[in-house]
Amino acid sequence: MAVRGNPIDIMGNQAVQSTRALSDTGLGRAAQVLTAALQTTLDIEQLLGIFTHEASRWVNFDALRFQNNQEGLHTEIGHPERHRCAYRLRLLDEDLGELAVSRSRRFTERELEGLETLMSTLLHPLRNALRYLSALRAAHRDPLTGTENRASLEHALRREVKLALRHRQPLSLITLDLDNFKQINDRHGHIIGDCVLRSAAECAQSAIRDSDLLFRYGGEEFVVLLSNTAAAGALQVAERIRAQLVKHSAECGDYRLAVTASLGVAQLKDGESGMELLDRADTAMYRAKHAGRNRVVLVAQNETQPLKG
Ligand code: GH3
Ligand code: MG
Ligand code: MG
Repeated sequence: MAVRGNPIDIMGNQAVQSTRALSDTGLGRAAQVLTAALQTTLDIEQLLGIFTHEASRWVNFDALRFQNNQEGLHTEIGHPERHRCAYRLRLLDEDLGELAVSRSRRFTERELEGLETLMSTLLHPLRNALRYLSALRAAHRDPLTGTENRASLEHALRREVKLALRHRQPLSLITLDLDNFKQINDRHGHIIGDCVLRSAAECAQSAIRDSDLLFRYGGEEFVVLLSNTAAAGALQVAERIRAQLVKHSAECGDYRLAVTASLGVAQLKDGESGMELLDRADTAMYRAKHAGRNRVVLVAQNETQPLKG
């Protein structure tokens, strides 16, 4: 069989046996070199890059594709060609994803065997990198609402401000604070309060684009970061979130609870830091509170010293 169309399994225990048996052959040495190189990183893209570099010395191929749907990972290296062999990578019962390589010529049986041996050296490093990724993601996620958390916001703000400056693109930020939330807790208890928070986060998430990022900043405060978006666009998004919250009351236990929010919007100014941008949007949000809640306030770009409150 020269081409493997459907994914075949590469399993962990096969790996150990095959590399041991081959340790004195050219392929065995290539597997050892690859094993050592794969131990140098926990970054999945880098692992795949190392694999492509080292494995293509032994079996020539033009493109590699890795997919792990569970973690939402999709990596392509090179341009896919006609003859493709795909493998489902497994370690014990753990499904690590699908790896496929392709080229314009058919693969010989010997090449495929070599490739499978080399692929088996990827299993443990890939499993470790996936676990590391999942731990990193958990550290940046708010466990109650599933949105990104404050640590993630600080990281994203630094990154997005740099990108906005480099590409000379607008960046806007919305702060959102649920109105009179303490009353919900006081009347219905924290469990219902938590449910309302989850429901509000879902509602806000459904009102924004995939490229906009939602964070839980603190108790009942959320932030939306909108890359490549100027104030007018951000104002529309904020208004859409506000209106959606009014429309979809939270269903929690036996209750159907109306929830509203006050929102502040600001666009990044020249020379401003991410935290300063956040501070200006927050000031606008407090103005919305003072103006009667359930509304959106935009800070004008030319406003120098917004009054607090
Ligand atoms: P305002 O309209 O001025 O924002 O009034 P508010 O009641 O929403 O604001 P306040 O800051 O007085 O109260 C926020 C409440 O949010 C108090 C706190 O108990 C509650 N809270 C914070 N974090 C959580 C949480 O994780 N779960 C629950 N259930 N409540 C929380
Ligand atoms: Mg608050
Ligand atoms: Mg509040």
